[in-house]
Amino acid sequence: MTSHEDVFGVPPEGRWAAPGRVNLIGEHTDYNEGFVLPAALPHSTVATVSRRPDRLLRLHSADGAGGVTTLDLDALEPGRPGGWAAYPAGVVWALLGEGHALGGADVHFTSDVPVGAGLSSSAALEVVTALAFGDLYGLGLTPDALARVARRAENDFVGMPCGILDQMASAACAAGHVLFLDTRDLTRRQVPFAMEEAGLRLLVVDTGVTHAHADGAYARRRAECEAGAAALGVPFLRDVPPDRLDDALARLTDPVVRRRVRHVVTEDRRVERVVALLDAGRPRAIGPVLTEGHASLRDDFEVSCPELDLVVSAAGAAGALGARMTGGGFGGSAVVLVDAEAAQAVGAAVLAAFADAGLRAPRVFAAVPSAGARRLPL
Ligand code: ADP
Ligand code: MG
Repeated sequence: MTSHEDVFGVPPEGRWAAPGRVNLIGEHTDYNEGFVLPAALPHSTVATVSRRPDRLLRLHSADGAGGVTTLDLDALEPGRPGGWAAYPAGVVWALLGEGHALGGADVHFTSDVPVGAGLSSSAALEVVTALAFGDLYGLGLTPDALARVARRAENDFVGMPCGILDQMASAACAAGHVLFLDTRDLTRRQVPFAMEEAGLRLLVVDTGVTHAHADGAYARRRAECEAGAAALGVPFLRDVPPDRLDDALARLTDPVVRRRVRHVVTEDRRVERVVALLDAGRPRAIGPVLTEGHASLRDDFEVSCPELDLVVSAAGAAGALGARMTGGGFGGSAVVLVDAEAAQAVGAAVLAAFADAGLRAPRVFAAVPSAGARRLPL
């Protein structure tokens, strides 16, 4: 693989990493100001950076469409550039927009985060860029500030109307923990998730599938949630009191909006239930809550797909404790909680189910909750 110096002719001044994530539970809640519970993956995107005396931003990714993308810092605007470079360029644009004084730089990325698999390679790319520039220019950015600037890049520069889950997970997760995050005000707590001691494994199953309508459907789900909140007279679905859910549902006339609301409100409760079980030292007991969450995403929120449903049903039939899709849906990945001794058999059963259905073999790996964004030695 080519190094920073191979590509740019100068050695890097520093090296930073930001991970991808799996969300244990709390899906499509972040843009409703609700709760999420992600863990950082051991996979991360690594950036090396050297500053330049001029105002050029030169970007290279070992995983991007070849070559170096050269940009003028003062000519960045949404849509220019497009493609993969929009993610890091959007971060620089967002930092400049906040009034930070940045100069030109050469930036080289490598990554082992699966791309487009619902494991947040985009947030890893954004957050590592924000962290690197923040460090090099002494901006003193907190994890919240990193996540906010990264989300702004994805929302306003790339044009993907995501919530802040992915960026906060990449910026703020801690090894051995899941991050219990209130997306309303970013208050959070690191919740120990000692899988190894409990004899558990968390499998990630990357189906390798992306369904083409995913982007439009995501925006439509957001709009349906906003319509639900408006019909109920609350700012966000987070504000629907869970003990008044039945009343709220009865007041909604549109059956689609009713199902969307039911998912979001019950999903926030599932996050709290999982956190309570983890706090009580009962990680094994979260399995059924995960599977319940999948049913809600499949039936009420309608963001699953046959491949994700197959992972969940095949894993369940093979003795998994629980399983659900993770990430936005319409393809991407699922998480499966298993007893350590059953991990092999459950993984094999999922692969066999895909083979029987004539589907391309998914990628299965065990994920250990890992560190959030950080500086690395050169
Ligand atoms: P996810 O975040 O689930 O992986 P997205 O569709 O949100 O999926 O983001 C994937 C896009 O992010 C890719 O199509 C590519 O443009 C960009 N990307 C992510 N990681 C890299 C990388 N290491 N190099 C180049 N582009 C990347
Ligand atoms: Mg993404």
